[in-house]
Amino acid sequence: MRKTIKIVAPAAALSLAVFLQGCTQEDAVETPARNIVQLAEDLYRIQDDTHFTIALVTPEGIILGDPLNADAAMWMREEFEARFGVPVRYVLFSHSHWDHAAGARVFDDTATLIGHANYPSVVADAIATFPIQVTLVDSNGDQRLDREEASGDLATAFDEYDTDGDGFLNGGEILADVMMPEVLYDERATIALGGKTVELIHPGPNHSTDAAVLFFPEQRAIYGVDFLNVKRLALGFPGTGTLDEWIHSLKTVEALDFDIVSPGHSSTGTKADFIAYRQFFEDLRAVVTEAVESGATLEDLLASDALAEYGDLPNYDPQRNRNIEDAYGLMTQ
Ligand SMILES: [Zn+2]
Repeated sequence: MRKTIKIVAPAAALSLAVFLQGCTQEDAVETPARNIVQLAEDLYRIQDDTHFTIALVTPEGIILGDPLNADAAMWMREEFEARFGVPVRYVLFSHSHWDHAAGARVFDDTATLIGHANYPSVVADAIATFPIQVTLVDSNGDQRLDREEASGDLATAFDEYDTDGDGFLNGGEILADVMMPEVLYDERATIALGGKTVELIHPGPNHSTDAAVLFFPEQRAIYGVDFLNVKRLALGFPGTGTLDEWIHSLKTVEALDFDIVSPGHSSTGTKADFIAYRQFFEDLRAVVTEAVESGATLEDLLASDALAEYGDLPNYDPQRNRNIEDAYGLMTQ
């Protein structure tokens, strides 16, 4: 729905110098596991397989976080109508990556789409090159995805994505359904509807340069995606960011007044869980800095007991090694 469009200056073109491991391929299942769970008063966490979003229900409509993929968005629309009887009035993008954003068209007739000012250039860059989160499964590195490399949504709907029918998915085909936001913001935006509010806060560059954290002050809850997790190590690190930028982003989020953390992947947690997640990155920076300064090789560092105190986390293996490799690479490049 197009209204009250506020234009901000386009961001500088991005340089995707660093490709990252994917944030969506792990734990893929064939039948989508879907449910809606209440987190706090009027606040709901919505699951589609390994992806999660969030919705604040008001008497005048719903403020939705990410729309996820089109199939999940259709399911959400029906569920919202049946449960709450009000339409989605706002879609607030956590970032532009297609696996979180592509379903927006389903809500566009009733909703205003809001994203960070860098969103359009991140999408343009991904179309021109390749979606950053697909590079992990592009096993032959040819910057396009064949049928064997595709997984999840891209595998099940391969022929629909492959609009030119050449047997490969390029950036433009994968991102064809990603709509542009109708309202852009630079640092912060406040959305008010039906007597309730949500704040959008850009914490700086991290997994992407167009990230937002959604802050629900009355519910004392936050929602963030890919750069923000609890009770596990990051899958989306480093994306297009540096380790210092990640720590800066996490400290910006930590300064908010919240009790509930609802990430775009994996489980929910508390502020203490979030602080532990931020602390991991500071510990990662400390051990990699010490290794680089003392002349230790990456192999030395991987073979050491560095970060062993995080060994109880469910994805410690292999993410501990991947995070060390990426951080070491960033610090020595
Ligand atoms: Zn992402």
